[in-house]
Amino acid sequence: MPKALIVIDAQVDFCPGGRLAVEGGDQIMGPVNDLMADYDAVVLTQDWHPEDHSSFADNHDGAEPFSTVDMPYGPQVLWPRHCVIGSPGAAFHPVLAVDVADMILRKGYRPDIDSYSAFFENDHKTRTGLEGYLRERGLLELDFVGLAHDFCVAWSAIDAAKLGFTVSVIEEATRAIDLNGSRASAQENMRAAGVTLK
Ligand SMILES: [Zn+2]
Repeated sequence: MPKALIVIDAQVDFCPGGRLAVEGGDQIMGPVNDLMADYDAVVLTQDWHPEDHSSFADNHDGAEPFSTVDMPYGPQVLWPRHCVIGSPGAAFHPVLAVDVADMILRKGYRPDIDSYSAFFENDHKTRTGLEGYLRERGLLELDFVGLAHDFCVAWSAIDAAKLGFTVSVIEEATRAIDLNGSRASAQENMRAAGVTLK
């Protein structure tokens, strides 16, 4: 079965020195590049937020980063300002082999809603179009890598499994934020959704 590697948010702001740094995030870039040749297609996602994005703590009076607020679509973690459209932090990490990608999908560009998953925004309803792209190309087996393991990678993998794709996460090519045990709960939720962790 044709197989795609989906690289989630391998961007400067999610690596050490970035605005929302994930510990060791930069260390995955070499392994991710090495994996690319084993697939029929490579898709990169790019977190891509306007300045007034509602996931930024500093757009909410008095709110602390990493606190949670209720949005119309459900609970939302408030993050430090990151991956602002066109900013250096929104660029892909310089080591990532961007030229190999068949497709680059941007997400999180609507001010009022965040998008952890590459398939649905955080209301779990608004589609990004990625499912259609993969199905039209017959790419039904998907391996996920990238940042961060416990948010955008996990949400993407779980949605893909729910949509009927055969899904794995290659954990050594991911790194987690691990906010209040989020890494362990993401692993549990992924396994429950039928995602293979390898
Ligand atoms: Zn974001």
